[in-house]
Amino acid sequence: MPMENYTFARENLAQISDRIGDAAAHAGRSPEDITLIAVSKTFEADAIIPAIEAGQALFGENRVQEAKAKWPALRGRYPAVKLHLIGPLQSNKAKEAVALFDAIHTIDRPKIARAIAAEMVAQERMLELFVQVNIGGEPQKAGIAPDDTDAFVGQCHDEFGLEIAGLMCIPPVDEPPEPFFERLAALAAGLGLGGLSMGMSADFESAIRSGATHIRVGSAIFGGRDYTG
Ligand SMILES: *Cc1c(COP(=O)(O)O)cnc(C)c1O
Repeated sequence: MPMENYTFARENLAQISDRIGDAAAHAGRSPEDITLIAVSKTFEADAIIPAIEAGQALFGENRVQEAKAKWPALRGRYPAVKLHLIGPLQSNKAKEAVALFDAIHTIDRPKIARAIAAEMVAQERMLELFVQVNIGGEPQKAGIAPDDTDAFVGQCHDEFGLEIAGLMCIPPVDEPPEPFFERLAALAAGLGLGGLSMGMSADFESAIRSGATHIRVGSAIFGGRDYTG
């Protein structure tokens, strides 16, 4: 494994940690209230291990199949590592998702909520769950409509017995993210939910100012992704 990977991961993580600290201080928040999810999608073990060795213990993946291919071996070697699913979930993957992940950020419809609830009971595993909100109302994006969030979170609790930790969003790409972060924060506050999964490499500082508790950062830690390979 190339030594430069170790330096790269360590330096990038140290930089992100400083930036989290500055953004938190600026917002009058404690950095301990902000959880960094290192998004390792498309990266293989030789890029991920240096980040683990540098002290990063929480990772995010956006595909169940990809995570299943690379994480069981990594977790065998590093049992303390936690894994969050941050990408879309099909109900026929609910069983694998519950077995593999410690949290799911993308609960966005009754069918998924029901399948996850059934699997958590069957596998006797409790995952931390976030409801994904389509905060920009974009037709191509996953997530429950902002106006339906209240009813859906209620249904998750009353009908499926799920405790929802918070809300997650991916704002529209070509607009300033702040109003969307603020809107998600207001929605969560109105529902009495403490968790806010928002902010990526390009905008996590702004998300922290709006109250993010979980930021999902990929390329700023691992470098650019190659989707062609
Ligand atoms: C890929 C991804 C991220 C990380 O994106 P970067 O811009 O690389 O930080 C965050 N959240 C979700 C849902 C993603 O799919």
